[in-house]
Amino acid sequence: MKITEHIKNAKGKTLFSFELLPPAKGQGIQSIFQTMDELMEFKPPFIDVTYHREDYLYKEHGNGLLERVSYRKRPGTVAICAAIINKYKVDAVPHLICGGFTKEETENALIDLNFLGIDNVLALRGDAQRGEPNFIPTPGGHAYATDLLQQVVDMNNGKYLHEDVESSEKTDFCVGVAGYPEKHFESPNFNTDFKWLKKKVEMGAEFIVTQMFFNVDKYKEFVVKCRDNGIHVPIIPGLKPLTSKKQLITLPRVFHLDIPEELSDAVDSCKNNADVRAVGQEWLVQQCKELIDFGAPVLHFYTMSNPGPTKKIVEQLA
Ligand code: FAD
Repeated sequence: MKITEHIKNAKGKTLFSFELLPPAKGQGIQSIFQTMDELMEFKPPFIDVTYHREDYLYKEHGNGLLERVSYRKRPGTVAICAAIINKYKVDAVPHLICGGFTKEETENALIDLNFLGIDNVLALRGDAQRGEPNFIPTPGGHAYATDLLQQVVDMNNGKYLHEDVESSEKTDFCVGVAGYPEKHFESPNFNTDFKWLKKKVEMGAEFIVTQMFFNVDKYKEFVVKCRDNGIHVPIIPGLKPLTSKKQLITLPRVFHLDIPEELSDAVDSCKNNADVRAVGQEWLVQQCKELIDFGAPVLHFYTMSNPGPTKKIVEQLA
């Protein structure tokens, strides 16, 4: 079922959903099932599965030459989504990224997803490849999420890349995109970033999932700005429990967000990680309560495939 339908059917009740990471390569599907088993009690209408592009390393040859070799760290998102929908009968939302894919490869992935009966996708650009300072589009691939979104919209209209293919069956994907209450880090200012978000919705994006935030006012201001500017699709807040002191540095660095002073001070004064987890939990429960009161359609938790801290929070809300 489409995410938009799940939200409509909930009739204003806030839903809970979760994002999982494909496990490190070598692990089996059992690790995903263990995480799912823990989360199913909250009846998630959908589960997101992230996509991680290949990394690369340089292999030294005896003659002094270096060979650039790409390698994968995690198994593919499509297969994990297929396993989830079959075993748990919940919708799985694969993340599709531009980086590392030609348009043909993207079309092939979408054909597979359509074949599997997957109704939703999250269309993203993806970050720069490890070791690169900036995002470099893959030759023959897309440069922005708008371009990837256009490809999905085209397929929804029966338009494939090559006109001479035998079938041009229309797909019917419900496409979501990312939104940044604190601005995307590459954008020169908030309004420019916002202009591209509006463009994505005008092109056919049917829901927005936000980057994580620790200050609910940022989400509220973002939603109000969206509504004032004609963006009326569901805006799903992305949430993450803070679980270690180190994250006071890593989360702002990686996700380009602010941690409110009150929270950073409270975490700083903790004596051990158990205390930090308690502070992080209390903070996020409060965030969730405010979001429910504000009418957030879904609370979407970035679990990093470690369901424990998220479970403790949702248990207090469900
Ligand atoms: P875009 O919408 O393409 O925006 C990138 C930048 O370009 C922005 O500054 C924007 O303002 C600007 N821009 C947008 N469109 C245009 C245009 N047409 N012309 C010029 N400028 C433009 N990364 C992964 O690798 N795998 C994942 O599974 C993953 N999941 C994510 C889930 C969520 C909910 C979020 C919020 C992020 C996720 N990311 C993931 C990270 C994401 O890929 C990065 O934040 C990336 O840097 C931007 O992706 P985007 O889709 O927002 O890009």
